[in-house]
Amino acid sequence: MQACIKTENGKVEMMDLPIPEPGEGEIVLKTTLATVCGSDMHFVDEFPNQVLEGLAPGAGRPEGFPMGHEAVGTVHAVGAGVTRVKEGDRVISACLVGCGKCTECMHGDYSVCTGGGGMLGLLILGCQGEYYRIPFADVNVARVPDGVSDEHAILAADIMSTGFAAIERAGAGFGDSVAIFAQGPLGLMATAGARARGCGLIIAVDTVPERLEMSKNFGANVIINPKEKDPVAEIMSLTNNTGVDIAVEAVGTQATFEAATRVIRRGGTVSGIGVYGPVPQVSMPIFGAPSFYHRRIVTTWCPGGHVRMEHLLGLLQNGNIDLTPLFTHRMKLADMPKAYDLFRAKTDGVLKIAITP
Ligand SMILES: [Zn+2]
Ligand SMILES: [Zn+2]
Repeated sequence: MQACIKTENGKVEMMDLPIPEPGEGEIVLKTTLATVCGSDMHFVDEFPNQVLEGLAPGAGRPEGFPMGHEAVGTVHAVGAGVTRVKEGDRVISACLVGCGKCTECMHGDYSVCTGGGGMLGLLILGCQGEYYRIPFADVNVARVPDGVSDEHAILAADIMSTGFAAIERAGAGFGDSVAIFAQGPLGLMATAGARARGCGLIIAVDTVPERLEMSKNFGANVIINPKEKDPVAEIMSLTNNTGVDIAVEAVGTQATFEAATRVIRRGGTVSGIGVYGPVPQVSMPIFGAPSFYHRRIVTTWCPGGHVRMEHLLGLLQNGNIDLTPLFTHRMKLADMPKAYDLFRAKTDGVLKIAITP
């Protein structure tokens, strides 16, 4: 089978590998749709292979790391002990899988599972291949309803779950004001999540005009381009200098994190979903801005578990919501290295690339 492999930092190649076999509790899926994620760029360009091995124990191969953690597939083979899915089912798996047994999983926090061998939960790898393997399948796999397209379903495996969770874990309620820093695919999902959740004023911040335009599609009322205006001053002015109820940090830089801390009201919440890559620490001001005392900070890894994904799929099926405009490009699996180049360059208005075998 063809699979996209990270051979060294900054480089992926298509290679011919054997189709994986399911072990106990595992399934093997035949890919129908895959995509590239912002996290993939960290994994390919910045993370040494030892870090990847820690995130996805056992995923490494002599040739390198099979890439991709978001896909829709049909069940090709079922390992011993799996009862919830059968051959031929069309399914998604959370990009971070839980064992279903450890303390964190029993709390429903599958993405910080400590029972799978990885301290940050177990990252699925290999979705950018014709076949890929899912461990702990009964815990982590959800069947896709007939009325939900592959391009919709794949979002529930990662960025929709993460973006919507930024809003949920901030405790958003009807009419809450929300500012979202960065409108890449993940930030756009937070914008859509804030709208779906019944928030009031939604302010989207980004430097790329096409992304700001897209954010209006997903529910932003006000857009701010930091190249034109200081977003902190602008957001404070829009909220009569009280600040927003919730500020979402969706890119993973010190500058956006700090800006988020500066625009929340007293008692408000900073909700972080950005992936900071190898950034060792972020800091926030204590004085001189309403930024430290009596505020909450929450951070979220993509929430998984089949119940979570079934709920998201139910929302996509019945919730009058269309997230598919996120797919700006369609490519073939054989062109995976080109897809990485396009995604890295952020040119041609690229947001999500739908990749079919
Ligand atoms: Zn991802
Ligand atoms: Zn666990």
